[in-house]
Amino acid sequence: MKSYQEMTKEELLQEKAGLEAEYAKIKARGLALDMSRGKPSSEQLDLCMDMLDVIDSKSVLKSENGTDLRNYGIVDGIPEAKRLIAEIVDCKPENVIVYGNSSLNIMYDQISRAMTHGICGNTPWCKLDKVKFLCPVPGYDRHFAVTEHFGIEMINIPMSADGPDMDLVEKYVSEDPAVKGIWCVPKYSNPQGVVYSDDTVRRFANLKPAAADFRIFWDNAYCVHHIYEDKQAQILNILDECEKAGNPDLVFQFCSTSKVSFPGAGIAAISASAANIADIKKQLSFQTIGHDKINQLRHVRYFKDRAGIEAHMMKQAAIIRPKFEMVLDLLEKEIKPLGIGSWVNPLGGYFIGFETLEGCAKAVVAKCKEAGVVLTGAGAPFPYGKDPKDSIIRIAPTYPSLADLTEAANVFVTCVKLVSVEKLLE
Ligand code: PLP
Repeated sequence: MKSYQEMTKEELLQEKAGLEAEYAKIKARGLALDMSRGKPSSEQLDLCMDMLDVIDSKSVLKSENGTDLRNYGIVDGIPEAKRLIAEIVDCKPENVIVYGNSSLNIMYDQISRAMTHGICGNTPWCKLDKVKFLCPVPGYDRHFAVTEHFGIEMINIPMSADGPDMDLVEKYVSEDPAVKGIWCVPKYSNPQGVVYSDDTVRRFANLKPAAADFRIFWDNAYCVHHIYEDKQAQILNILDECEKAGNPDLVFQFCSTSKVSFPGAGIAAISASAANIADIKKQLSFQTIGHDKINQLRHVRYFKDRAGIEAHMMKQAAIIRPKFEMVLDLLEKEIKPLGIGSWVNPLGGYFIGFETLEGCAKAVVAKCKEAGVVLTGAGAPFPYGKDPKDSIIRIAPTYPSLADLTEAANVFVTCVKLVSVEKLLE
């Protein structure tokens, strides 16, 4: 098979005519499909329903330290929930604060408090002329939305297969005291599924920031979210690496069970150095008397430990793996030989980050929409919604049924081909 770049104008025109006929047929079917939602399917959620039975009106709702969990108190999480989270991210329970139901909410809080009260005694960011954040791209749109909401200037950092461009990160962080943070999704990144290499993690831990209150916002959202049983990524432990590098306070690590148990009804946590934890607790005590400890207990009683979480995630993997594999096989067969797209084959997480020819992403998303297939808006994985090359599309395979996803993925492939041919004919 010839790639589109190798085709003559006549061959491209012929290809275009065939694709237009195919596209017209697809449109006539009046499809209504959605590949935009990075959510678990109801089948995945069904796996966890028994969790709702582990606590009922007869249950003894006491923590292992004797606290009555029906009442106020314990601002930083019950000891057994801290231990469960510590096992997931491999740190000490005393370095964990367990919050409520959302890690994004914790990230928002960290920025909000840095703005109004400062981090570890440093000047509140709102009193500074300029605050900047580094944003590896493509990335998670809600990270960028939080920083934009606080008026923080965002700087794009290109991603490679090993993680963010560390030369650029080191340069900005060491030279500019206005750079106060960086968003990282180190394992199975959203949306590309990139896993940070050991060298990348070590370079992060060894950063020499110009600002004393620079922090790495290490969103380990997909730390246990593997797609395969036999191929699982491991990353270095950022808290340990920072400690080793003599930079213990450099990082805030976030995680949650949103895509382990129930999104919006899981438990979420931050882990960090003793100094950071003490600083956060001091401020947190003004915000709440304690989070939902009964839900924390429910999670511990159901999952028990890391092994319990891992076993559960393998059940989820069995549901999502065929969906990922179907999309990846189709791309491999239909797109790769034509030279009109690239992607990383993810080993975990929730997304496939598809890169079109430059200047094609918006048009592909629009064509899919016209044919009844909803994709995440082009540009969404970039600060300010602006993809400088207009080339990244986030595919979310988990939510639709395999049958719907197969239809949607075929429509997507046709649209990528058609838009690419049109681009090459320009
Ligand atoms: N972080 C990343 C990278 C995500 O992709 C998501 C959800 O898609 C979240 C955080 C949201 O997490 P939570 O439900 O704990 O707020």
